[in-house]
Amino acid sequence: MSEAPFLHCNRCGRPEPQPVSHREFVCASCDYRHFVTPFPAACALLLDAENRILLIRRANEPGRGLLCVPGGVVEGGETAEEAVSRETLEEIGLDLPASEFSYFAALPNRYPFQGYVWPTLDLFYLARVSSFENIQAQESEVSGWEIIPLADVDYREFAFESNAEAVRRLNANLPGSVCT
Ligand SMILES: [Zn+2]
Repeated sequence: MSEAPFLHCNRCGRPEPQPVSHREFVCASCDYRHFVTPFPAACALLLDAENRILLIRRANEPGRGLLCVPGGVVEGGETAEEAVSRETLEEIGLDLPASEFSYFAALPNRYPFQGYVWPTLDLFYLARVSSFENIQAQESEVSGWEIIPLADVDYREFAFESNAEAVRRLNANLPGSVCT
């Protein structure tokens, strides 16, 4: 992993824009400023009526073979709800409209990609599903899936701490659960 994601200036091509801070790199020739800012990612917390959660096994690095929830980077022009709906359909074949998802938490994450550890902001959205029967995993990204009672999740198996923390919070504070 490199310390900077910018090997050359984006404008004039001079090598090695210099770090001003951990998130800003400036070109010594033309002063062009390069920034490292978090990518927003939308992530799906999917529960059935028995409070079982759907977790997928990653087919690729980072975290190959480990667990995460369905999700991916938000594309330009999308709402986060549209992004999480699209990613859910793409990765596991469940067609849930954006309106079915409600905001749950936003947690920072770090994602190694193309030689640099990028910051992301993982936006977690919760949706209830009537059934997990019709899952069709996208083999290029998903090597398998598990449907686990929330109380039985093994947090050590997650690829990303943000995902583990979101599921931990969900287990501790399930919306709609009745406290007596
Ligand atoms: Zn430059």
